[in-house]
Amino acid sequence: MHSAKLIRDRFKPGLITYSPKVFINLINLCRDTCSYCTYKKGPTDEALSMLSREQVLLIAQKGKMARCTEALIVTGERPETKYSEAREWLKSLGHHSIVDYIQEVSDLILCKTGLLPHTNAGSLTKMEMSSLKDTNVSLGVMLESASERLAGKGMPHEMAPSKSPKVRIKTIQSAGELKIPMTTGLLVGIGETPEELIDSLFLLRDIQNKFGHLQEVIMQNFSPKADTAMAKSDRPSHSYFVKCVAVARLILNDMNIQVPPNLNPGCLGDFLDAGINDWGGISPVTIDHVNPEYSWPDLKNIGMITIQRGGDLRARLPIYPEFLDKSLGFLPESLRPYVDILVDKTGLVKEHDRN
Ligand code: SF4
Repeated sequence: MHSAKLIRDRFKPGLITYSPKVFINLINLCRDTCSYCTYKKGPTDEALSMLSREQVLLIAQKGKMARCTEALIVTGERPETKYSEAREWLKSLGHHSIVDYIQEVSDLILCKTGLLPHTNAGSLTKMEMSSLKDTNVSLGVMLESASERLAGKGMPHEMAPSKSPKVRIKTIQSAGELKIPMTTGLLVGIGETPEELIDSLFLLRDIQNKFGHLQEVIMQNFSPKADTAMAKSDRPSHSYFVKCVAVARLILNDMNIQVPPNLNPGCLGDFLDAGINDWGGISPVTIDHVNPEYSWPDLKNIGMITIQRGGDLRARLPIYPEFLDKSLGFLPESLRPYVDILVDKTGLVKEHDRN
């Protein structure tokens, strides 16, 4: 942990970031079934979400009022390939695929509110991601694990073909070929061995060495949920998870590493000591629809913990400052005016916009 912290301090001395966001739960039908997931809903579930353009815009406008800068758009995996309800819904909106609708609402959010879209719609093709590049400053897809074993019989990804490491790696690499800044990450404690976790980290490092587009790696701890096949599985112990985070810093070196603070209340300082430099998206407006049982932490509290550990908490965009450099080609010039108006010369959100 000591070495991990030293590496983090050399990488970004005294700077810890978060992204003020709204969570747009566009559609929570999903063709896959992961045995730990409660995000996915059925067509008759009370908590089914299928947002209209107007609903999307209303959430984004609330975010704008609360000085958010990110619109996180989340969907289940290709819902229209499994559910007639999703196909009918898309048809009524004038679309055939969820990606086409994401493209439309991203444009709407951007033009009407100036919030910057960041979409996580699971495994996408290169062509699909290319169609989102002009409206999304970055995209996200969790690798979760590079272990093929987790798709085996009785394992968490048995019924989730999109979670095959080959499929996820292809999505991540295609984003690299398109020069799209990408957020990815690992889900720790779903049955992988420590060696498999380390292999996954080395894989991400190799991809980063090749493409340079991985703007952030999320280290997320598995948390068992009622009414899932893994309800009785243990969550990884705090000390094990903190060690995994430190190992991630040792392997990933100068990459941005995030731990979601709402999943770990009461022990956030330990993750700063293990070398993270980001708290991810935190919303003053919307709940965490993937983990609704965990509320967002108080920003003042996170700021205090960060200061106690010698850091300064700053808001960032859903595209990290180092990816804004024109010469790198990650940000389309059509999106630059939307970014420029929000940032100071360091590429972080202007302080007076936050105070
Ligand atoms: S792919 Fe995502 S939304 Fe679908 S079941 Fe798995 S974790 Fe849930």
